[in-house]
Amino acid sequence: MLTVETPRKNAGALRRLGALPATALFRRREQAAPPPRPASGIECTMRGCSNHTAEPCAYRDRRQRSCTATICPAHGISLGGVAYCRRHAGTVQAIGELARDQSAYPDVDDRAPSLVDWIARDLDKDIRRLLARTARPGESVIADDAARLAHDFHRHARWERSWRLVEHTGPILTVTLHVTEDDDSQLHVRVGTEAVADGVPPWIARRREGQDVEAAIDISQRQLFYRYLEETISEAVARFRDRSDRLDQ
Ligand SMILES: [Zn+2]
Ligand SMILES: [Zn+2]
Repeated sequence: MLTVETPRKNAGALRRLGALPATALFRRREQAAPPPRPASGIECTMRGCSNHTAEPCAYRDRRQRSCTATICPAHGISLGGVAYCRRHAGTVQAIGELARDQSAYPDVDDRAPSLVDWIARDLDKDIRRLLARTARPGESVIADDAARLAHDFHRHARWERSWRLVEHTGPILTVTLHVTEDDDSQLHVRVGTEAVADGVPPWIARRREGQDVEAAIDISQRQLFYRYLEETISEAVARFRDRSDRLDQ
């Protein structure tokens, strides 16, 4: 059973391992192997896995619907001692504090919270830096650390994460990423009142089309996507500051 705080952090740890001398990777003494887990007889639903030691994913949404995935110890992710499939581990992590309340659990097939949270984590440092750079004396940056549920004027639900430039009188500028429950593959980016970008991330587009690409292509597509978002947000923040400068004069 893989126990991680976030899948990303785990990936980081693996990368860091690569830099260590080989001797640091191995323990001197063989540890006693844990007793083998009795086979549940249930097949793991992870593609390419033939283990028959799977258990159902523990995810239950707010309507008490459960996930149909069954996962073996090698492919499940344990959060607080509860084993989920990868997808729902992402959902539980995405909603942060909300995960304490069962009635807040997103619908079992809703990918919106994990998608917005995933992209927000990847952009977090850049957006903080960008807003900090544009901050004036007395202004500071505050940011969400999990996806929040919000509703638009038509009561349509969406999951969002925001970064705010604030001063003592209140917010000056908000950068928000959101994904709606109606279309949970489309990312929307807003800077202040301006909708600056929306689109389907390349890895989601490929999944929808059932496409597989080489890892190198995947990485370069992701990099392009993130660079596009960073540049778009950066330009919108600059435009906002330009306008407010002119108003100040
Ligand atoms: Zn498996
Ligand atoms: Zn699941």
